[in-house]
Amino acid sequence: MDAKKYKQQLLDTLYKPYKKCTGCHFGMPPATQIVFGQGNPDARLIFIGEAPGKEEDIQGKPFVGRSGKLLNRIFELTGFKREDVFITNIVKIRPPNNRKPLPAEIEKSRELLYKQIKIIRPNVICTLGSAALQGLLEKEVKITHMRGKTINWHGIPIVPTYHPAYILRNPKELQTLAKDIQKAYKLSE
Ligand code: URA
Repeated sequence: MDAKKYKQQLLDTLYKPYKKCTGCHFGMPPATQIVFGQGNPDARLIFIGEAPGKEEDIQGKPFVGRSGKLLNRIFELTGFKREDVFITNIVKIRPPNNRKPLPAEIEKSRELLYKQIKIIRPNVICTLGSAALQGLLEKEVKITHMRGKTINWHGIPIVPTYHPAYILRNPKELQTLAKDIQKAYKLSE
């Protein structure tokens, strides 16, 4: 069996016990479904966002709303497809009214993310926004201080960058996000 199939099987087994959960496992109010992640289970590059929004909650897929469309465009310009990478969030359940996930919710969601990373074993992790970075580093950090750096996380480089939703509000930073994604992609090759 090739690595892709094998890792997909491991991910499916990992997800199985959570399948019926709509939030309580993560200490969260109920949502429609868990949004585990999407993409290549043998990806060299993982993108980690904050939490599913309304559209993601409905479709069960990460980054399928406005932020996702922006990401897709940047991926295309960088020269890779969404299917080449793996995309997920630090928090797998949509927080009510799209509020920011609480520290306790991030804490409870972390274990599942760590298990995904352990199975996929990417060369590089690109965090989108501060929640994902804080979740991995397990401490409070400001994205404005961290972006532009490459951080070693258990032997895997993290390239922290802005969340695409921030870019939709501040389009002048679009080039910065695109450059960071390009950097993460090159590093993962
Ligand atoms: N924002 C996120 O952080 N993740 C998604 O999946 C969608 C929007």
